[in-house]
Amino acid sequence: MGEYSSLGEVSGKRVLVRSDLNVPLDGPLITDEGRIRASLPTIQALASAGAKVIVTAHLGRPKGAPEERFSLRPVAKRLGELLGHEVAFATDTVGESAQAVVAGLGDGQVAVLENVRFNPGETSKDDAERGVFADQLAALADAFVSDGFGVVHRKQASVFDVAQRLPHAMGGLVATELDVMRRLTQSPTRPYSVVLGGSKVSDKLGVIDNLIERADALLIGGGMVFTFLAAQGHPVGKSLLEQDQIEACKGYLERAATAGVRIVLPTDIVVDTAFPSADRDPQAVVVSAAAIPEDALGLDIGPESGRLFGEVIAESATVFWNGPMGVFETPAFAEGTRAVAQALTEVTTRGGLSVVGGGDSAAAVRTLGFADDAFGHISTGGGASLEFLEGKTLPGIDVLED
Ligand code: ADP
Ligand code: MG
Repeated sequence: MGEYSSLGEVSGKRVLVRSDLNVPLDGPLITDEGRIRASLPTIQALASAGAKVIVTAHLGRPKGAPEERFSLRPVAKRLGELLGHEVAFATDTVGESAQAVVAGLGDGQVAVLENVRFNPGETSKDDAERGVFADQLAALADAFVSDGFGVVHRKQASVFDVAQRLPHAMGGLVATELDVMRRLTQSPTRPYSVVLGGSKVSDKLGVIDNLIERADALLIGGGMVFTFLAAQGHPVGKSLLEQDQIEACKGYLERAATAGVRIVLPTDIVVDTAFPSADRDPQAVVVSAAAIPEDALGLDIGPESGRLFGEVIAESATVFWNGPMGVFETPAFAEGTRAVAQALTEVTTRGGLSVVGGGDSAAAVRTLGFADDAFGHISTGGGASLEFLEGKTLPGIDVLED
């Protein structure tokens, strides 16, 4: 219980734990339970120490009011199965049900409160409104443990404000994640490669900006590739393109050249004439990255690029990867992502540090059949890890430090 020693004896105390249980759902089915599993150790440690554990978390993006499809009930049920004992569930966030459930908790028992974002105070930009909600959350507990790494970049009531109202400590998951992120930013073992993909360049500009001079190689795939190809003057057909970021991409290409950092772009692309959909079989065709036809849509990096990316990654001692290389949800466009994942596992095997960040990237490696322990670390927080790598301060971490 070393990490929670700042809280003193927790036995018999009500401890509010902010976890990240924001798992992808397909109807009531949990399609990747990685975040639930990652939340277990802290909950278990506190329960074993005799605390009355009250878990608060969010799911999806409800608009400050209850919505059945964003209920945490199925998640609480799964959490109970994984813990091996019943978990009480409150049907509201801080109301009558929450108060009754907390009052009924015995030492070492666990309760989950309904989706914290069903209350508009959680995400309010108004400090006073958030404060009122944080007061109500704090009234349920004697201490607070912050363990939702996926939300520590958010100034939200259950992440930030509640920590100002209760004795608080950093959870083990957040501590581990921070440790890995620090290893990536403070003198990483070289060669250091950063692989970026996913759908939007604009989401990841800050990371490129902060890492361009620190990494030895920056490999770019996914939907953001096309803005870089456009910056090099190539046609991109109907592929995803962020016109307003072309100039920024040109700037990065120039800065990388000046700094002697290698920017690796795909040489071939897998295209189709339409985005994958249920009513149409994919027609995957490989074309040169420099000559994407007008009616084509780039959906994955090609096989030659997969090999090239694989080689550069496998030679690295440290690698951070965020964002799938293609629309991996469709098997015909998953091979680029598979090649990158495979290369990361080789880095792990040789004793290097391989880190996967991002919700979809984590889901992708699991969907493709890779074991979690084939990677040095799979981060539970996409946005938080990116903001950390951008060099930003994270409000949910800052607040724990004073
Ligand atoms: P992460 O959650 O790992 O940070 P993102 O959310 O940025 O990743 O991006 C994931 C999404 O990017 C996936 O749903 C994937 O289908 C999509 N994607 C990847 N390549 C392309 C592409 N070429 N065109 C459109 N979408 C793409
Ligand atoms: Mg995502």
